[in-house]
Amino acid sequence: MAGATVQRTRAQQVNDLLDSAEVAALIADLEETRWTGRPGYPVRSMVGMMLVKSLYAIPTWSRTARLVGEHAALQEALGAAPSVYACYRFTAKLREFPDAVDRCIAAVLARLREQNPEMGRNIAIDGSDMPAYANGQRFVSKGGRERERYSDPDASWGHRSSVSTRSGGGYYGYKLHAAVCTATGLPVAWRVESARTNETMIAPSLLDAAAARGFRTETCAMDKGYDVTTMYDACEERGIRPIVPLRQTPDVKKGKDAPPSCEHGVWTFAGSDTKRGASKWRCSAGQCAPASAWVKADRLHPLVPRATARFKSLYHRRGAVEREFGRLKHEWSLLPLRVRRIDGVRLHADLSILARLSMALLAAQPLRVVTDAGFGKAAA
Ligand SMILES: [Zn+2]
Repeated sequence: MAGATVQRTRAQQVNDLLDSAEVAALIADLEETRWTGRPGYPVRSMVGMMLVKSLYAIPTWSRTARLVGEHAALQEALGAAPSVYACYRFTAKLREFPDAVDRCIAAVLARLREQNPEMGRNIAIDGSDMPAYANGQRFVSKGGRERERYSDPDASWGHRSSVSTRSGGGYYGYKLHAAVCTATGLPVAWRVESARTNETMIAPSLLDAAAARGFRTETCAMDKGYDVTTMYDACEERGIRPIVPLRQTPDVKKGKDAPPSCEHGVWTFAGSDTKRGASKWRCSAGQCAPASAWVKADRLHPLVPRATARFKSLYHRRGAVEREFGRLKHEWSLLPLRVRRIDGVRLHADLSILARLSMALLAAQPLRVVTDAGFGKAAA
C-alpha cells in the first residue's frame, strides 16, 4: 500500500499544478486559440500530460501515455487518458504558441520571486550539453560513405567540459545556457542554442531576460570560460558585478592583475564605488602620499576583487548552476532528447523547466485535503 500512497501523492501534485492559477491561465490561454479542434481531449488533460512527463521524468510520449492509461489516479487528475498521437499533435501545435508558454513561465517566476525577494540577486551562468536525438557523424559507417542528410540539421558539434568522473570532449547536439539563482537553486533565465554556439555570446541575453522578468541581479558567477573582456563589460553595463576567475593570459603571467603596492607592501582593498566604476586601495602603513588610489574596473581589477572573501563566497556558490543542470537532466526529463530541430528542443526545455518551477511553487503552498472520494479542495 505504501507504493499506492506515493503514486496518489504524485497524482495529487499533478492535479494541484493543473489547478494552480498560473497553469490554469496557460490552459485558458490555449483554449482561447481554439486549435485543439478535433473531437480531441481537453486542453487541461493535454497540459496534464506534459506535467506527468516531466514529473515522472519519462523521456517519451509513448511511455507517458502508457503510464496514464494504467494509472487510475492520474486519469482522475487529468480527466482523460490522452493517446500518444494526441500528445504529438499537442506539442507540434504548442510550438506555434511560444508566447503562451513564456507568459506562464513569467507568471510562475513572478510568484516565486514574491516568496523569495532575494531570488535572482546572486546568479550563476553556465552552459550544459544536450546531445541530439540524431547521429552527427560525418560518415555513415567507419570508412563508409559521407552522410548526405542529417536527421537534425539544427544540431552541431560542440565541446563539453569534464564533470566529476566523466571526461570532456566533443558532442553533437544543443547547449542549454542558463542563469540560476544561487540562493534558491532555481533557473531565472535560459536559452537553448546549437552546440557550437559560444557561451559568452549568449550570457548577456540571459542577464537581460532575467531583468525583463523582474529580477534585480547584483552579481553573476561564471567559470573561466567566460573570462573575456566583453563579458566583464556586459555585466558592468547592466550594473552587475562579474565573479569570474582569471585565465593565465600574458597579462596575468606578468602579474598585471596584482593590487597596487609600495615599499610598505601590497595595498589593501578599501571598497568599490560602482558609480565611479573603480575600486579603492590603501597603503597598509598609511605612510604614502597619496595614501590611497582608485583603480578603474576591468577584467584584471573587478569591483569585487578576487582576493576578497566576498568573491570567494560568491564564486563558491557557482556550483548551484551545475547542480541544477544535473537535476533538470536526471529528475525532470530534460535528457535524453526525443525531439529534433531547435524549436522542438526549446519547447521541451521550456516545459521541463516550467514543470520544475511550478513544483517549487507548489511545494511552498499550503497542503490540500485529500479524501477517499477524490481530490479535495483547498483547506479553508
Ligand atoms: Zn606605502
